[in-house]
Amino acid sequence: MKQRFAKTGIIRSFGAAEVVTGSCHLYQIDHGPTILIDCGMFQGTVEERNYEPFGFNPRHVDILLVTHAHLDHVGRIPKLVREGFRGRIITLKSTMDLAEVVLLDSAKLMEEEYHTRFKKAQRRGAEASVRKPLYTTDDVAAVYDLPMTFVRYNKPVEIAKGVVATFRDAGHILDSATIELDVTTKEGSEKLVFSGDLGNHNDMVMPDPVTVKEADILYIESTYGDRDHKGIEESVAEFKDVIINTLLNRGNVLIPSFAIERTQEILCLLKQMYDSKELPECQIFIDSPMAIRATRLYDAYHEELSEECNEYLKRDGTIFDFPYVRYTPDVEDSKKINDIDSGCIIIAGSGMCTGGRILHHFKHRLWNERNALLFVGYQAEGTLGRRIINGERHIRIYHEEILIRASIHTINGFSAHADQSGLIEWMKSFDRLGKIFLIHGEYDKQKVLRKVIGEKMGKRAHIVAPEEKIYV
Ligand code: ZN
Repeated sequence: MKQRFAKTGIIRSFGAAEVVTGSCHLYQIDHGPTILIDCGMFQGTVEERNYEPFGFNPRHVDILLVTHAHLDHVGRIPKLVREGFRGRIITLKSTMDLAEVVLLDSAKLMEEEYHTRFKKAQRRGAEASVRKPLYTTDDVAAVYDLPMTFVRYNKPVEIAKGVVATFRDAGHILDSATIELDVTTKEGSEKLVFSGDLGNHNDMVMPDPVTVKEADILYIESTYGDRDHKGIEESVAEFKDVIINTLLNRGNVLIPSFAIERTQEILCLLKQMYDSKELPECQIFIDSPMAIRATRLYDAYHEELSEECNEYLKRDGTIFDFPYVRYTPDVEDSKKINDIDSGCIIIAGSGMCTGGRILHHFKHRLWNERNALLFVGYQAEGTLGRRIINGERHIRIYHEEILIRASIHTINGFSAHADQSGLIEWMKSFDRLGKIFLIHGEYDKQKVLRKVIGEKMGKRAHIVAPEEKIYV
């Protein structure tokens, strides 16, 4: 076999290699620390992989760097800790605060599911066959007992001898980072850049992603490597039309939404409509405890948000609130929404309609043609959201059949990810760019991006295979 030269070490991707989810990249520095970049959950069709061994020994990891708090970047940290990781977590403070909301929510869901299955299995005498949750709320608490170092954007920090980390704002969700590592070993020095998830330009809530100047090695996400998003202006116009028409026709609008980022973006958009007097009088319910907690964190860390958000704060003393907004963390208040006949905008999870309070609202509202169901986020294959978009009109919710007579609208322009042009533009802004490695994308889409990188930048990009050893 060809002997390969590693200047500083080896990187292996134990997740987000030829798939989007499960981000987990292990960088073993020669005669230096072992660093893990993200430790996320696999989601959708590859979910089973969460229960498989990591592929490395968590005890041997010295440092965990976290790019941001989405479940597919933090969702296996409690498992990592349970299996022996005792190193240091280094990230932004707000990332760990938001991660706590995300991890507790996911642990609670898994615990509930486990108890339901256990009870059913018990009745047939098969309780031993029920798989334990991937982690529990106690495992989440154990993460927060580990030593942590909180960094700030653009402030280089020596995280180990010969390793300096700099976090840059990736503009994807609240406190999402691109991480630069300057590494020096006795073989030499090099700069590695992990893009994290890159945001969009002109996002209402987040600032634009910061451009990086130099990299010898770039690991870049490629979620939307194969295409460009529809223009945001067009999507905003469609969104406004649905809201205004439905409310004027005495209907209600249901918006299944992700708790982090999309909910805050939708709130900002509604606030803009309120300001410009386009929004008919209504009640806007944020009917998701997780979205409410996330919104509070967005408020608390407002310095990291867009100028527009900070102008709202200066003007109104709040970013997301205005007279029509109602928060309903309690189940009882949530149920009372059912008694309101018209004039509601209900924002609830889960984002893909696989569970959560949105299903109760479906049951109470979808049969009525006055109402509208408005999709503002990605609906994965196999989810109820996707089935409705694909035309299914008879659905079952809690053992009851519902005929959908409400109008269905899908708005594709909202995205927290850079599209193909955004990714290329971001890479072109480097003054010096060495080798490009594609991660965090489906293989077919990565192939398209690799081709475009060749055409537009005259460079060859490598698609990282799962667990492949990359000598850097
Ligand atoms: Zn993300």
